[in-house]
Amino acid sequence: MVQAYYRPETLEEALGLLGREKDARLLAGGSYLLSPQFKDRAISAIAISSLLPQGIERRKDSLIIGAGICFQSLADSSLVPEALRQAALGMANRNVRNRATVGGNIGADRSCSSLLPFFLVAEAIYHRAGSDPIPAQRWREEPPGIITAVEFPLPAGRSFAYGRYSRSACDLALIGCAVRADLGAGRLDNLRVALGGLSAHAQRYPGLEASLEGKPLPPRAELEEMAQAFFSPIDDLRGSAAFKRRRAAVLLADLLGSLKERRL
Ligand SMILES: Cc1cc2nc3c(=O)[nH]c(=O)nc-3n(C[C@H](O)[C@H](O)[C@H](O)COP(=O)(O)OP(=O)(O)OC[C@H]3O[C@@H](n4cnc5c(N)ncnc54)[C@H](O)[C@@H]3O)c2cc1C
Repeated sequence: MVQAYYRPETLEEALGLLGREKDARLLAGGSYLLSPQFKDRAISAIAISSLLPQGIERRKDSLIIGAGICFQSLADSSLVPEALRQAALGMANRNVRNRATVGGNIGADRSCSSLLPFFLVAEAIYHRAGSDPIPAQRWREEPPGIITAVEFPLPAGRSFAYGRYSRSACDLALIGCAVRADLGAGRLDNLRVALGGLSAHAQRYPGLEASLEGKPLPPRAELEEMAQAFFSPIDDLRGSAAFKRRRAAVLLADLLGSLKERRL
């Protein structure tokens, strides 16, 4: 429940409020913060959406995305990799996509976040107001502050794929997965794998990456068997641990297979 509402005029003012106000939260699209999950929690809302960049800029070897851009604009952009467009389109419906922002998705940091697996495999950095940029991988290590933009490298030959598994089209994803590799030599180079839904937050799987790195894609059955050993989900209402482990391995094999079809 929002107990106090602030509308700062600058990011510096917003940062001051964030440090000073009790139970302060940044209000971007509000699709998470104003949801029933917060109805019993007193929050001071600091409205920042008008202060954040909302553009997308393609630089020579990188892409930079304003944190204030909404999911629908991300999905509609011809500048972003197809895998990121698909990740954005995976969210619920157009109404929510028109509200939810990139910065809010990172701030919400949910297990099945739509965008975090992609940002992790892309080795994105988060630009922040008043602080140095921080790699997506280390985002939880210090007070988050205000994200103003996300930037990631896009060298030639790099391929991404994203997929999600959910019980119905507009349901939250049970499992989301992003992969990236540099293709061309008939093997997976600089492979990165990240999944959401198997732990409290989306994460990369370095052991799994290392066991596939620099090799041709193994046969599908072998890949699925091997991948399952790296996943440690819990049993809960959304599914048994065994089901999630298996489903995640199948999704991963689908995505790595789709990379292979593209360039390997
Ligand atoms: C019907 C419905 C369906 C949903 N489906 C999905 C889904 O498929 N996938 C998914 O990932 N999420 C989903 N969500 C959750 C949520 O909407 C998203 O995580 C969304 O991206 C949050 O963005 P927002 O701009 O609305 O954030 P807000 O609700 O405004 O804020 C969310 C959190 O992020 C912090 N924050 C906001 N902006 C910044 C910033 N610039 N820097 C640092 N922290 C910031 C806030 O302090 C707050 O804690 C869904 C929610 C609803 C209501």
